[in-house]
Formats: sequence, structure tokens, C-alpha cells
Amino acid sequence: MDAEKSLEDRCADAGLRMTEQRRVIARVLEASEDHPDADELHRRSIEIDPKISISTVYRTVNLFEELGIIERHDFRDGRSRYESVPDEHHDHLIDLKTGTIIEFNSPEIEALQERIAREHGFKLVDHRLELYGIPLKKGS
Ligand SMILES: [Zn+2]
Repeated sequence: MDAEKSLEDRCADAGLRMTEQRRVIARVLEASEDHPDADELHRRSIEIDPKISISTVYRTVNLFEELGIIERHDFRDGRSRYESVPDEHHDHLIDLKTGTIIEFNSPEIEALQERIAREHGFKLVDHRLELYGIPLKKGS
């Protein structure tokens, strides 16, 4: 993945016609450090262009997802959440109390997954790993 490329550039590379509204949504998504759902993306987008409708947001994220330039996550709270495909792979740890999403990368887990796939006669091409937890009380 080309680290220098913006989401807008990736859309252009994918041959997507970029309307002004799509650009706004792409920029909002790119600026998001969290994993916003469509409602949250809509709230942020209308601060820039109040004419953007929620259905435009849905259509746009679906389109981006189909083109493989953003990832959709389901963290079991009934909402689809989005992030631009990261330059460096990471997995997610979800705090069930607060909904906070922590990103992590474990070389050991990555290597283990590849080994498991290989032992089953596969070359690993993708995976998803989500950990769900509640914060430990101090001292436990
Ligand atoms: Zn993430």
C-alpha cells in the first residue's frame, strides 16, 4: 500500500468519479483516528457540507468498501464502522465497557497465524482478529 496516497487519490486510481460530496466524506474518514460508523461520519461531514444526506454517506462508504479502499468492521455493537485501509496492518481490542477501540500489532500473532495456515496447506492472504475485553481492576 502506498503510504503517500490520500484516500482521494486512491479513489481516483480506482477510477471512481469524485463528486464534491464524496471528497468531503473521504476527507472526513481520512481525518478520523477512531472507527466511526455512518451516523458519526454523517455528523462530521455535514459540518463541512450541510447538504450531504445520510443515504449519500451509506452509498459512498459502500462504494469505497467495494473498491477496497476502506475497511468495514463489525465490533458486535450492531454498527458497521469504517476506517481507511491502513498502511500498516493492525488488529483491534474492543473495550466492552466503554466501546473504546485499541489498535495493536503483534508479530507473534502474525507469525502464528501464518504457521497455522501453512500447517493446513494454505498461504495466508488475510485475517481478522478482534479481542473483546473489560478493563482489569487494579491489582487483579
Ligand atoms: Zn483500526
